[in-house]
Amino acid sequence: MTYVREKQVALQAVMRAAKLCAAVRAEMVLVDSLQKSDKSPVTVADFGAQALICQCLEEAFPQDPIVSEEDSGDLQRPENASKLMQVTRYVQRFQPTATPEQVCHWINASKGPVAERFWALDPIDGTKGFLRNDQYAIALALIEEGQVKTAVLGCPALPLNMDCPRGETGVLFIATQGEGAMMARLANGSFMPIHVTHESDKSRMRFVESVERAHGNAALQEAVAHAVHIITPALKMDSQAKYGTVARGDAALYLRLPSPQRPDYRENIWDHAAGALIVEEAGGRVTDMHGKSLDFASDIRMRDNLGVVVSNGVLHEAVLAALVGIPTGHIARQAKQE
Ligand code: AMP
Ligand code: MG
Repeated sequence: MTYVREKQVALQAVMRAAKLCAAVRAEMVLVDSLQKSDKSPVTVADFGAQALICQCLEEAFPQDPIVSEEDSGDLQRPENASKLMQVTRYVQRFQPTATPEQVCHWINASKGPVAERFWALDPIDGTKGFLRNDQYAIALALIEEGQVKTAVLGCPALPLNMDCPRGETGVLFIATQGEGAMMARLANGSFMPIHVTHESDKSRMRFVESVERAHGNAALQEAVAHAVHIITPALKMDSQAKYGTVARGDAALYLRLPSPQRPDYRENIWDHAAGALIVEEAGGRVTDMHGKSLDFASDIRMRDNLGVVVSNGVLHEAVLAALVGIPTGHIARQAKQE
C-alpha cells in the first residue's frame, strides 16, 4: 500500500467539504452566487470547501503546492463582507476557531504553480449544477511527475444506485495508482471496489455528457456514440460525477468534445485529474479526442489536449476511429445553427 497518509488526509478533507456543500445547499434555500471575471458563478460553498480542503492539506503536507479554482480576491471586496462572514460561519462548523482572515489565507494557500508534486483541487466542480440543484463534485488529486497518484471525488447529490434515482444520495470515489478504484456511501465511508461496465451489459451501454451545451459538442457527441452503436439518448450530468458514473459501470462512455463556439478552449487540470485516475483504476481509459494522454504536468490548462474521451476501455479505439471518420466540419456547422 502506498500514499496511505495522502489518501487519508484527502478523504477526510473531501468528506468535510462535501458536508459543508450539502449544508449550504440545504440551508440556503436560494443559494446566490458572485460572478467571477470569466462570468462563471462562485458560491459560499465553493469558498468554504476550498478553505477546508486547503487547511487540511496545508497542515498535513506544508511543502505541497495546491493548484485550485478559486482565490479570495472577490470575497475580500468590502461589498462582499457579509458573504465572507457566511463562509466563515460554515467553516467554523468544522474549524470552530476559524477567523475570516484565516479563511482567506486558506483559500489563497492554493496559489502554487504545477510542480513535480502538487495537489489539483476543484472545491465545487459543476457550480452551475450545484445552483440548479443537480449534480456537482468535490475533486482532489495528488499529481507527481505528471501522474495522478491518488484521487478522491465527493458527489453529494449522486444516487447510490442509479436505478433508484430518488433513493439515498451521496457517493465518495477513491483511487490510488495501481490499487484499483473504490466507492463508498458519503454517510459512512465503507468502501467497496468498483469496475467499469462490461460490453455484455447492454442496459449500461449508454453515454454521459455535460448538461451545459456550451461545454461540449452535443451533435458530434451523439454522432460518435451512434458510430459505436450506442443508440440511447445521452445521460446529461454536471461535473466529474460523469467520471464516477463510467467508473462504476453505469455508463460506458463520457464524451466531452470541443464546443464549436469555443474551439480554442483548453480544459483545466482540476476538472479531470481526479476523475481520470478513478476511471483508469476501475479498468477504463481516458485520453483526449486524438488519443493523447491528458497532460497534468505542464500547466494549469491542458494546452496540448483537445476534448476528453472517457470509456470502459473496450469502446475506446472504436470511439477514436469514429472521431477520425466523422466529417466534423459538417457537424460543427450543424451545431452552430442550433
Ligand atoms: P461540466 O459540469 O461537465 O459541464 O463541467 C464544468 C466545468 O466546465 C467547469 O468547471 C469549467 O471549468 C468548465 N468549462 C467552462 N467552459 C467550458 C467550455 N467552453 N468547454 C468545456 N468546459 C468548460
Ligand atoms: Mg470545475
